[in-house]
Amino acid sequence: MKTIICEKPGLFTQKDTTTPQPRQGEVLLRIKRIGVCGTDLHAFAGNQAYFTYPRILGHELAAVIEDPNGSSTWKKGDKVVVIPYIHCGKCVACLQGKTNCCTRLQVLGVHTDGGMQEYFALSEELLLPAENLSFEEMAIVEPLAVAAHAVKRAKVEKGEQVLVMGCGPIGIGIMVFAKLAGAEVTALDINESRLKFVRKQIGIKNTVLPSESLHQDIEKITKGKLFNAVFDATGHKLALESGPEYMSHGGRFLLVGLSKGDLVFNHPAIHAKESSILCSRNATAGDFQEVIAVLKSGDFPTDAFITHHLSFDKVVNEFASLTQPENMVIKGMVQLS
Ligand SMILES: [Zn+2]
Ligand SMILES: [Zn+2]
Repeated sequence: MKTIICEKPGLFTQKDTTTPQPRQGEVLLRIKRIGVCGTDLHAFAGNQAYFTYPRILGHELAAVIEDPNGSSTWKKGDKVVVIPYIHCGKCVACLQGKTNCCTRLQVLGVHTDGGMQEYFALSEELLLPAENLSFEEMAIVEPLAVAAHAVKRAKVEKGEQVLVMGCGPIGIGIMVFAKLAGAEVTALDINESRLKFVRKQIGIKNTVLPSESLHQDIEKITKGKLFNAVFDATGHKLALESGPEYMSHGGRFLLVGLSKGDLVFNHPAIHAKESSILCSRNATAGDFQEVIAVLKSGDFPTDAFITHHLSFDKVVNEFASLTQPENMVIKGMVQLS
């Protein structure tokens, strides 16, 4: 079978490898789609912390069961969404149901090999039924689950004012789920064309650039109250450190994007607002199920969200094009037949 390996930053190779044999409790999957995410782009660029090479990337996976291997749940041909987070089930986080931040968490395609291969043997516990979603929809469940998890963690309520910083796939997902929760959403990005995208495709009325008039723009949008919840989906230090400024007294600031180093907040400023500063990491099986239900209802603009398609055989030579800002990539999708 064909496997694509990220040998080192900037280099993919395609190799012929042996089809894996599923072990007890595993099924053999045939991979159909692989969503390309910021993590993959960073791994390819060589600026992903704690990343080791060579690595098979791919954690946003749509698959069908090739060999159920005696499973009582799955049969050949079933469409499945993969939860790419391998958790231990025994640690302090897992025992509280917070499998998304297991102390021994292994993410497929990050800490261990992922799905950029034709066949993949995987524990059947990491699979969810795809409920007749298209392969494209199935492959965007994971990034949208990360967004849904953040919105749930922020306890967004109807009528609240929400700011989302960053109009990448996760930011867009947060906008959609915050809107579904009944919030009024404002988007912030340094890139006007991305703001245009969320106005047109996601129906976000208010969009702001981090310009000199930003504070006035925000006062105007929120009638001086600032935002009940602010989400950072950029992972940039400057955005992360400025988030609490846009948040109302008693508000919540959600750190969804990940920066590499230390952050500095002025204590009197965050104290005066009795700020809740919350990190949001990955997603749980419940978040995946919530996203599958939303996609099933047709409330998400999948076709607009997936801006670039790439066939599996073209990854080695054309993956780099997904990293170029002028190509306006929101979500790239690798296709296998
Ligand atoms: Zn991802
Ligand atoms: Zn655990």
